[in-house]
Amino acid sequence: MSRIYNFGAGPATLPFEVLEEVRDEFLDYPFEGRGLGMSIVEMSHRSKAYDVINEEAESDMKELLGLGDSHRVLFMQGGATTQFSMAPMNFLKNGQTADYILTGVWAEKAMAEAKKVGNTHVAASGKASNYSVLPKPADIVLSENPAYVHVTSNNTIFGTQWRDLSPLNLNPGKNMLVCDMSSDILSYPFNAGDFGLIYAGAQKNIGPAGLTVGIIRKDLAENNDKSLPIMLQYETYAKNNSLYNTPPVFAVYIMGKVLKWIKKNGGLSKMAERNQDKAKLIYDVIDQHPDFFKGHASPESRSFMNVTFRLPSEELEANFVKQALASGMSGLKGHRSVGGLRASIYNGMPREGCKALAEFMLEFMRKA
Ligand code: PMP
Repeated sequence: MSRIYNFGAGPATLPFEVLEEVRDEFLDYPFEGRGLGMSIVEMSHRSKAYDVINEEAESDMKELLGLGDSHRVLFMQGGATTQFSMAPMNFLKNGQTADYILTGVWAEKAMAEAKKVGNTHVAASGKASNYSVLPKPADIVLSENPAYVHVTSNNTIFGTQWRDLSPLNLNPGKNMLVCDMSSDILSYPFNAGDFGLIYAGAQKNIGPAGLTVGIIRKDLAENNDKSLPIMLQYETYAKNNSLYNTPPVFAVYIMGKVLKWIKKNGGLSKMAERNQDKAKLIYDVIDQHPDFFKGHASPESRSFMNVTFRLPSEELEANFVKQALASGMSGLKGHRSVGGLRASIYNGMPREGCKALAEFMLEFMRKA
């Protein structure tokens, strides 16, 4: 078997060791020193074996984020897109306003859903630059008393990323912060306790599609509006340890293994170091050859997760994608709203993959 380097934006490459473990356990799930004679995907979500998976997934997530009793970790479905609706349905009350910092297509989509529920206010927008630059702290103007402030930490399509929200003066002591971390969750250390709600589709940094993780301040998952559909109340998940109905068991199980892999590999600070080093390999090629490679994101806003760039012509870009694939690198075509090329290099992408891509970029340029 030969694995290729998959630079796709998501579902995305997962740590190889995790995939091997999943393969080894697949037919006969090991529990308490013996095989249970069935696969994890065939087992009741109310079994003792699944209980352990469910509990450890929550406690490992909290440990990695440095969270204690103040927060709960919820395992939901419906993708981050369902969170675009669920957050306002739960937190945007009649007459209130929710603030959105627009840094890309996903933030726009999140706000569009909130608009269906209540008032929204654009606290800042990077649209004028085609989202190549993140707003500066001084550009952010919050409404008077927002129900919450919504931020997208990493902009998957445009390749920009905050990593540190503290200079933005969002005043987490006063304002409830909601963050879409779908494409950079667990890729660097940050102060998770500052957030009321963090949500993420699992399929980029932490696991397979089908699971949406919510990290929520405990008091925000209590006394929800009971007229909401039961599966759209955070309280339903918090009260029932995400077992009110059948959770996406296979996805939670694999994410659990990814969390243990992150812990084993040094936690979030080590992930940040690795990710910065990986991204630098590719950004260096872009910066050293500006006549050929044009980065989309302005350097101070660059993402360590999604590197977006263009070549001198669309024809060259199409050839790049084709030849890269022939050299064992897939998923490099940019999102249709930016065009060009995009290398997604989440936690699971090994350094060798980024090195191979950087070398391929140089070789492609020389031959072009
Ligand atoms: N937010 C961000 C930042 C994303 O990158 C994506 C998916 N690419 C989404 C939201 C939508 O996620 P989902 O497909 O899980 O609904």
